[in-house]
Amino acid sequence: MFRVTKEIHFCYGHRLLNYAGKCRHLHGHNGRAVITLEAEALDTLGMVVDFSEIKRIVGRWIDEQLDHRMLLHEADPIIPELIRQGEPFVTLNANPTAENIARLIFERTTAHGLPVVEVTLWETETSFATYRPQNPETGPPLRMREVAARPTI
Ligand SMILES: [Zn+2]
Repeated sequence: MFRVTKEIHFCYGHRLLNYAGKCRHLHGHNGRAVITLEAEALDTLGMVVDFSEIKRIVGRWIDEQLDHRMLLHEADPIIPELIRQGEPFVTLNANPTAENIARLIFERTTAHGLPVVEVTLWETETSFATYRPQNPETGPPLRMREVAARPTI
């Protein structure tokens, strides 16, 4: 097997519902997504997937959907206030933990047709979570909803 890994850096805010630790309040992280792809055979260029192609596809998606966004559980009671203020945010049907953000990036990478086998999300310099499905049929993908910023006049 051949394996390639691409790192993508982005910033995100979040808070966790029903949680007693530091991550219960709105705050941000400098996240690092580590995306690993595998293939048994190489393409005609001798690559699994060109690193720049991974960056173009997954990096762009992260840049547009997750970077500098507040990631929230869809039941977070702050959502009506963010809407009132015209703030952009992203909701998940799960707590926006490092584990679930890794899974979200994995599922979006798969949806783009890339042979991803695992995604690790570094939330801090010393803490990271990895998502690697046991088999491809591990239930429905995470549901993500994006609310754009109110346009400025
Ligand atoms: Zn946090």
